[in-house]
Amino acid sequence: MDPVLNYIDGAFVAAQSGETLDTVNPATGDVITTLPRSGSVDVEAATSAALRASSKWAATSMAERIQWLHRLADALDEDHETIARLESMDTGKPISLARRVDASRSVANFRFFAEFGEQHEEPTFSDHGAVNHVHRSPIGCVGLITPWNLPLYLLTWKVAPAMLMGNTIVAKPSELTPLTAHHLASVMQRIGLPKGVFNLVHGLGPEVGQAMVEHPQIRGISFTGGTATGKIVAATAAPMFKKISLELGGKNATVVLDDAPLDEIMDDLVRASFTNSGQVCLCGSRILVDSAIYEDFKGRFVEAVGRMVIGDPTEESTTMGTVISKDHQQKVESYIRLGVEEGGKVLIGGTSSEAPVDNVPSEGAFLRPTVLEGLSHTSRTATEEIFGPVVTLHSFDNEDEAVAMANATEYGLAGSVWTKDAKRGHAFGQRLDTGIVWVNTWLNRDLRTPFGGVKQSGVGREGGAWSLNFFSELTNICVLQP
Ligand code: NAD
Repeated sequence: MDPVLNYIDGAFVAAQSGETLDTVNPATGDVITTLPRSGSVDVEAATSAALRASSKWAATSMAERIQWLHRLADALDEDHETIARLESMDTGKPISLARRVDASRSVANFRFFAEFGEQHEEPTFSDHGAVNHVHRSPIGCVGLITPWNLPLYLLTWKVAPAMLMGNTIVAKPSELTPLTAHHLASVMQRIGLPKGVFNLVHGLGPEVGQAMVEHPQIRGISFTGGTATGKIVAATAAPMFKKISLELGGKNATVVLDDAPLDEIMDDLVRASFTNSGQVCLCGSRILVDSAIYEDFKGRFVEAVGRMVIGDPTEESTTMGTVISKDHQQKVESYIRLGVEEGGKVLIGGTSSEAPVDNVPSEGAFLRPTVLEGLSHTSRTATEEIFGPVVTLHSFDNEDEAVAMANATEYGLAGSVWTKDAKRGHAFGQRLDTGIVWVNTWLNRDLRTPFGGVKQSGVGREGGAWSLNFFSELTNICVLQP
């Protein structure tokens, strides 16, 4: 495959230093291609291009920008299969998942914001003989920094509203998964998007991401990634009074109440636990079950997990591929060992040496889905983000105890509640300290709704009007009526 390049001012270029990094297929250990190891000079070049394009792009009408978003959605739709294959190769996720989630949602992000923009109206308020007009302007040049778990899905979720509101962009995808961002840049070029509106700089976080956050003329940073990195981003950006949005880690609870219809929900619970090898920030990694049904639940859940098909991500029948890298595999395995040291019992799965996956290359970062029980809900294994295919089971005796257990982490991104009684689930959901609660469903997303976390899971919300608010500045113009 051709090397991945930066995309600056409408042209594909190498890092000015000429240095490169490798991107590796986690299912085989093979180097797929190289990407630029960029530095602050490349960020400077991309920012200059974005600033040069800024006033012209900001002056285009909303209707014109909406047409660009539709064109991008159409072009990504045409490339649906290519995108799914690139994403599967770069991340080790099953091809079926990459099609259904990553490729489809990337199209949907552009389509959604195009249609949302069509319905957008600015409010006016009349009082004291005057009319107040709420005027929106773009922030200017914005920086978008994204992680490796849903590479194009999360990048387009930021690019679409940023463009819609008239901003120009410097984007930095994860160094582990650069392929689909590179493809997006090629689509931008193919459809003739004015140069400088979208710029892409590849490389390492502390080198490229940090330079973006420090850049005085990048006035807004939208970041999705780990909590530790989010703290660095916040500490750097706050004294510069930059607008920042932080979508960070999670340790989400899946709460199974005593009336949950276990026969109907087991597949959903497996999906909520192990989609993308548990590497979705929304995955439930702690399952809290009413003690009255705990043993019944455990048997059914472990059996359903045992039916998952783990292996070659290119096979249509595979339901779980690899984790992102060998390094991450070792991190996840260290948590499985910690879980055992903390008193947990492995019900299914385990480290790759204890529970190897058959017929896969030894260089592949494969792990079996792992379920542990017997751990305190305050143990490290049950409170720290593992971000892999590991869940812990815990039992509770009443709803108050379940709420206390669910809220006993530093995180507060998402959670789900499973019950026959939707009203009961709704009431329970209001007691969880999280940004998102699903009742009898999971990853059911209406893109108009607020998405984001509380506590150490982040600051701010994305989605619908919340994204438009982040990517614009408001001026209230109060006009005295004659
Ligand atoms: P990460 O924090 O290591 O990296 C995220 C991005 O930040 C990458 O592009 C990285 O290169 C960059 N980066 C690293 N250091 C930086 C710095 N000093 N300044 C600026 N940028 C820097 O996260 P990851 O390992 O790529 O992704 C996994 C994490 O992302 C998990 O914690 C997961 O929960 C979280 N996540 C959250 C959401 C959400 O919506 N809340 C969604 C997906 C993933």
